[in-house]
Amino acid sequence: MGTQAICGECGRTLDEAYHYCPWCGVSRERETVAALVDRAVNRLDRAFRNGVDTRISEMEARLGEMEKDLNRILS
Ligand SMILES: [Zn+2]
Repeated sequence: MGTQAICGECGRTLDEAYHYCPWCGVSRERETVAALVDRAVNRLDRAFRNGVDTRISEMEARLGEMEKDLNRILS
């Protein structure tokens, strides 16, 4: 399997996707500062997008309520 990596600390095989060894918790590779910043930015970006999604659903819910009220008034 080409997606296997070996932990430099405990020597066990682990999935390439892991940033940290699940066995001993050590960082799989000496990550560059750029990689760390990149991951932090990705996390912030995801959190921001989740926040926007929440706000949009709240707005949609409120618009739905307004529509119901309008229908009640108009009918
Ligand atoms: Zn390990």
